[in-house]
Amino acid sequence: MKLPSRLIAAVLLGTAQLAAQQPDPMIAVRTPVVALTHARVIDGLGRAPLENQTVLVRDGKIAALGADGSVVIPDTAQIRDLTGKTVMPGLVMVHEHLFYSSISKGPFHMNEMEFSFPRLYLAAGVTSARTTGSLEPYTDLQLKTTVDAGATPGPKLHLTAPYVDGPETNIPQLHGVKDAADAVRLVNYWADAGFTSVKVYVNLPRDIMAATIAAAHQRGMQVTGHIGRVSYREAAELGIDNLEHGFMAMSDLIPGRKEGDLSNAVNNYRSLEALDPAASAINDLIQLLVRKHVALTSTLAIFETFTPGRRVCSQAELDTLAPPLRESYLTRWSAINIQNNPTTKAAFAKNMQLEVKFFRAGGLLVTGTDPTGYGGCMAGYGNWRAIELLVEAGLTPVEAIQVATSNGAKLLGIAGETGSVEAGKAADLIVVNGDPAANISDLRKAEIVFKDGVGYDSKKLFDAVKGLVGIQ
Ligand SMILES: [Zn+2]
Repeated sequence: MKLPSRLIAAVLLGTAQLAAQQPDPMIAVRTPVVALTHARVIDGLGRAPLENQTVLVRDGKIAALGADGSVVIPDTAQIRDLTGKTVMPGLVMVHEHLFYSSISKGPFHMNEMEFSFPRLYLAAGVTSARTTGSLEPYTDLQLKTTVDAGATPGPKLHLTAPYVDGPETNIPQLHGVKDAADAVRLVNYWADAGFTSVKVYVNLPRDIMAATIAAAHQRGMQVTGHIGRVSYREAAELGIDNLEHGFMAMSDLIPGRKEGDLSNAVNNYRSLEALDPAASAINDLIQLLVRKHVALTSTLAIFETFTPGRRVCSQAELDTLAPPLRESYLTRWSAINIQNNPTTKAAFAKNMQLEVKFFRAGGLLVTGTDPTGYGGCMAGYGNWRAIELLVEAGLTPVEAIQVATSNGAKLLGIAGETGSVEAGKAADLIVVNGDPAANISDLRKAEIVFKDGVGYDSKKLFDAVKGLVGIQ
């Protein structure tokens, strides 16, 4: 077989060197100075959009911005007229994964998506992503290295170590810790390897969680949790930084709950269904979370896929799934709708109300897709859906964009560098052919995604991964 000469060159040179020598077909704009003129700017800080703005990008940073005519445009600048278009911050999404569901007849199994997911994230405008639990830690680390080197298109990655779960973990790809010393050993091991966050998981008992949080904080790592044996109140009192899945994993209000009981979705959802959102029990809990600065991650896009009466994947999403996963997705989606469980519907709606209430109470609401489940919520498309659902829940479009940009940056401690359109920040920007402040679904009209001033072609990135989700 005769190999194409580019492939031979790639083998000889190594892909990183080749990337430096040849123009990357995914890149639409790569020039040191770019002026984006006549744009509508959504700043990511929750403020009303500004019309007729110029954003000057220089050497990867936002050098200046202001009304058209007020910003000096150097002769060397490439000028892009964005009349009718919007510039907004790149998304900072904080419940992401680099693995995805596989079709498996055996035990629960996830495949690493080191090819498709970084491209999908960037295609949708995600320029910073925190993974929230790893199953192939060394692949995650390697991917971060190649993305940071510019050899693979993808967002800036903030990596969470493999989940810290209790001994009864039902995920064979995880190590269930047997005691506090085991958990501490694991935290230190992954901190040494380069992970910056830890995630505690449903089966972890309170005493081991306490030791995990203390060890992680000692190493300067953040701790988030999808918790089950520990209530939200208990976790807040242990000093957890972040809770995942809005109020969907809250066991606090299950009648007769005893400390250490393992909660499950059925009991959690029944307690949400029965809950009066104005009740003092939930008000007190929200006040405690706000006071203790516990951020809450909304993951509505994944829950929607388990809720009857909701959307089916678009054709573009179906085309992105590997064919066997596409087929099993449609079967499962139909089954959920035929079953039509009223408790799931009620819990989903109640959780939306509570997330908005938490935001209005001054809580740090952040968002992510949690691309897991059975095929309905994947990287990229799922990020857009998560933001649309925050608007359906009751946030204004600019508030939902704030949650998905500057709030995420605040959580990760990178708000000084990214997450908003302000002079001095990284040029992590999305050019949208529409107005997401008026119609949030215009997010789906992303054209160019700038990361540190390099502009990627959104459509080409999406096209590069057709049929691959579920495989790689
Ligand atoms: Zn997750």
